[in-house]
Amino acid sequence: MKPIQLWLPLLNVSWDTPSFSRDIQRAQREWLGEDKVWLLPGLKETKRWCLQAGVSTYKECAIPSESFNVITIADVSKNTGMYPPVDTALPKDWNGKLPHNLLDLWLNSNDPAFGSTNNHFKMNLPFFSDEKVFFREVDIGFTPGPSFPIADIDEENNEIKLKWPPDDSNIIESISPEAESKEIFGNYGWEEEPVADGLNTVINESGRKATHTILLWDFPFKEMFPFGGGMDLLKQKQQLKYYALHAKKNQNRIAEQVSKFTSQGWTTLENQLILPTLVTEGLEELFFNIEGSFSIEVDSFKDFLNHKKYDEVFRKMIPVTRIFGWEGYFWWELNNLVNKRGKSIKSCALCGNIITGRIDKEFCSKTENSACFKKRKANNKRNERKVVNRRDKTKLKKRDHD
Ligand SMILES: [Zn+2]
Repeated sequence: MKPIQLWLPLLNVSWDTPSFSRDIQRAQREWLGEDKVWLLPGLKETKRWCLQAGVSTYKECAIPSESFNVITIADVSKNTGMYPPVDTALPKDWNGKLPHNLLDLWLNSNDPAFGSTNNHFKMNLPFFSDEKVFFREVDIGFTPGPSFPIADIDEENNEIKLKWPPDDSNIIESISPEAESKEIFGNYGWEEEPVADGLNTVINESGRKATHTILLWDFPFKEMFPFGGGMDLLKQKQQLKYYALHAKKNQNRIAEQVSKFTSQGWTTLENQLILPTLVTEGLEELFFNIEGSFSIEVDSFKDFLNHKKYDEVFRKMIPVTRIFGWEGYFWWELNNLVNKRGKSIKSCALCGNIITGRIDKEFCSKTENSACFKKRKANNKRNERKVVNRRDKTKLKKRDHD
């Protein structure tokens, strides 16, 4: 794949939230190649530090911001190796390798369930004294998010349908349900002190009440969106699915979404090639790689770091496509399929899964849906047997005649 750089937030705030989008602009200006950026309201000036974890050194920084968040910056190599390999919004089970079928998984994933939460989380936050950083566990509480009217409850299937925009609103076409809801219904607060186990009710200034919920995703999305995300994430998913299935007439819209979620960024070969190869494929593979591509022969990693060409080659700034959030990554993947590789996307004629491939492809491949694939192969065999049986019978009949 083409190497990329992902900017992944801990709190999946809508990218259309003005304060968050300003914070991300500030973070990009201040960023000097760190693995993690803390957005800390109340901080006076940017702080930078290093953390030692085993043999690895992680670079982090904190910048003064309007809203709280933690952004992991992960480089993805052409072999899908990631650095850092595991972090916030990067599932442990991947072992530092970006799965190649993530877009398929997302398009075919179940919609999330709703759970209750009191929006309180314990986290180790950085504090600073005399230019030193130290971490302390803090209980952080977030205010409730925007509210959305329920249009229908299907008790038999345990499903609820939400409706946005509301019928009586003057929204022409919803762009950011979260921002629009805040304009229409205003901010919500807790009706009573929220409890950790049980439903919590929230109320706005005009007395409108709602039940507070969090989105619960299946694996791997529950780790990619650690705090669940909101209605804008759901809308992004729906829109992505719609454009994927109607890709031909939405090519421009897909490209438009990509430009919203990407920018021209920079990285180094150290982050894009050396570290991902080292942590996901090992030292031997790394040495093989650098000898082949850069004619650098070394016996140890220490020798490699001290090599006279190291800084000049591997620490030099190089351009990279920077992608914001997993939402951005999915748009980028869809754009590659549709606008760059000219692939077709449709529903499998047997199970309805969304599948990608050549224009004449009709059914799931083994990797897309192995159950559907096996069923189809079994059916094919059965049909073949029927044909064979029929042939045998005709032969018998013929013999009778003879
Ligand atoms: Zn199928």
